[in-house]
Amino acid sequence: MVTFEKSNKLEHVCYDIRGPILEYAKKLEEEGQKILKLNIGNPAVFGFDAPDELLVDVIRNLPTSQGYSDSKGLYSARKAVMQSYQARGIYSIDVEDIYIGNGVSELIVQSMQALLNSGDEILVPMPDYPLWTAAISLSGGKAVHYVCDEEQDWQPDLDDIKKKITPNTKGIVIINPNNPTGAVYSKEILLEIAEIARQNNLIIFADEIYDKILYDDAVHHSIAALAPDLFVVTMSGLSKTYRAAGFRQGWMALSGPKKHVKGYIEGLNMLASMRLCANVPLQHAIQAALGGYQSINEFIKPGGRLYDQCKMAWELLNDIPGVSCRRPKGALYLFPKLDMKKFNLHNDQKLVLDFLLQEKVLLVQGSGFNWHKPDHVRIVALPYIGELDDAIHRFARFLANYRQ
Ligand code: PLP
Repeated sequence: MVTFEKSNKLEHVCYDIRGPILEYAKKLEEEGQKILKLNIGNPAVFGFDAPDELLVDVIRNLPTSQGYSDSKGLYSARKAVMQSYQARGIYSIDVEDIYIGNGVSELIVQSMQALLNSGDEILVPMPDYPLWTAAISLSGGKAVHYVCDEEQDWQPDLDDIKKKITPNTKGIVIINPNNPTGAVYSKEILLEIAEIARQNNLIIFADEIYDKILYDDAVHHSIAALAPDLFVVTMSGLSKTYRAAGFRQGWMALSGPKKHVKGYIEGLNMLASMRLCANVPLQHAIQAALGGYQSINEFIKPGGRLYDQCKMAWELLNDIPGVSCRRPKGALYLFPKLDMKKFNLHNDQKLVLDFLLQEKVLLVQGSGFNWHKPDHVRIVALPYIGELDDAIHRFARFLANYRQ
């Protein structure tokens, strides 16, 4: 009998945030068990509603949004993105440099598909948001992971970046603020990364989807604004700051000199055309989101839900014997470290599965973010404080007797 296998292109592609453990969780739910899912950064399902004005604009424009738009997106949406970047100091862009995609996810894949040939390398942080690594593999390239240093509040290790550059390195990915670590990169580090990119002719891919989710005194700097002489691909979208992940709206801005990347831009345009356009009615939410009052600010200040949840989760995690956690400066996650010796850890997928089966809470193992040791898990800080408190207490109860 003829069998059909997945393509060889998918051999090294992995996306564990929705991976095999989620299938176990679904099975338990089918059996009637209540599972607390702390595995996905999906604000709306935890009671973080999208701002009303987004819905109003989408609904108002729905009757006239039946056709395709330009492949790069609606002019009004792209103009709003362009103006928002100009306001933060990225001047060398015009509307033609903005691409709207069905989420940043689509743009990540397109940005790699348009660039990479077999053997090309892209530097990616470790831990990473795993779609970057997966998209590079799918595109025939090789993700080369540079370490982010937990001891330095998860800032990128510049020496490690330099060591890993080869003649095949085409670009470097920066996720700032970072998923999963919650790090927000300092201006100094970003300037140094820019210098490395400058000296080695690298394209910078700046995934800034959490750019407005910042706690305490954290300040976000767009690397494109710090290095106007470099070609930078900056990405963000509606999923996190605007709590509208289901709208599937993301954008990508190409800034800096373009002469030497004409061929690449041709590739990006080709891929944008091939998928015709992003969902049109939902593109109308972009202008509404970026202009005017930024309601995310209510959530991230002390007394706001996100701030309080992150702080409490961080404190509770550090109270667990054998667990330590850096305080997130931005984004929606905590990435605690577990004492490998104390828990005799050698398989973090097993750890997450054991916790799910025993306590009915779903986390994602650190290796799902291409972390190199089985000693981290990622926790989403989105549930209401009572639920989050309960989940972390269950984690403490589970770990109290856990050894692999
Ligand atoms: N980039 C990062 C760092 C993310 O954490 C996510 C989603 O969690 C994405 C990109 C994808 O976002 P989107 O919903 O826009 O596809």
